[in-house]
Amino acid sequence: MPRDLEKKRAYMRRRRQAKHEEMLAKDKAYYQAHRDERLAKDKAYRIANRESIRRREQAYKTTHRDTIRLKYQHYRARHRDQLLEKKRAYHAVHREESIAHKQARYVLHRDDILASQRSRYQKNAIRILRQARLYKQTHPLLIRAAQQRRRARKRHAPLNDLTREQWQEILIAYDDRCVYCQRKMKQLTQDHLTPLGPDGPHTVHNIVPACRSCNSRKGTGPPLTPVQPLLLTIAPARAKKKDQR
Ligand SMILES: [Zn+2]
Repeated sequence: MPRDLEKKRAYMRRRRQAKHEEMLAKDKAYYQAHRDERLAKDKAYRIANRESIRRREQAYKTTHRDTIRLKYQHYRARHRDQLLEKKRAYHAVHREESIAHKQARYVLHRDDILASQRSRYQKNAIRILRQARLYKQTHPLLIRAAQQRRRARKRHAPLNDLTREQWQEILIAYDDRCVYCQRKMKQLTQDHLTPLGPDGPHTVHNIVPACRSCNSRKGTGPPLTPVQPLLLTIAPARAKKKDQR
C-alpha cells in the first residue's frame, strides 16, 4: 500500500472514531437521499459482474463459515421481534400455502428433516428445554388450547374450532363458576357435555366450565345437572382447515 494512502486511511479511521455518531447520521441521511440511485447502481453492478461476485461470495462463505453464522445469530437476536412479526404477517396472509408447502416438504424429506431435528436437539438440548419451559410459563393458555385441540383431533371430534376468545367468553358468561357445583374459581376445566369423540365436538356449543372434581366425577357420563350450553357467541370460531373433516 502506498504510504500516503495508508496515512489517509489512518486519518479517516481516527476521524470516524472521533465523530462516530455524527458520521453515522450523515451516512444515513446520504443513503436515504440517494437510495434509489444507489440501489440501481448496485443492481447494475451485480448484473454486470454476476459470475465474479458469485465466486467471491462462495469463497468467502467457505472460509468464514463461523463468522457468518455468528453474524446471523446476532442479527436474529437483535431483530427478534421484527422478524417474528414479519413471519406472523406472512403466515397470516399465506396460511394455506405455507402449511401445504411444509407438508409437501415433510413428505419428500421426512428422514432428513427428522435427522436434522434430532441433531439440532442434541446439540442444543439444554437451551431448547429452557426455552420450552419459559414458553410454557409465559403462554399457559396457548399451550392448554393446543393440547385441547390435539386431544379433540385424536378422539376424532367432528368439529374442532373452539377459540381461546370463545373459551374466555364462556367463562365470563358463567361468571367463572362451575356449572355443576356453582363454585367460583380460576382453574375451571372445559367440560364437553357430549363427551369428546365422534359424537362430541370441541366447539362452543358443547363446552361448559366445570371444576376439576365435578368434571372428573362426570367423566364420560351424562351432565351431573341439566345444563344449557351457550347458544350465542360473539367471537368467531377457528377457520376450518382443509385437511379437517
Ligand atoms: Zn364443580
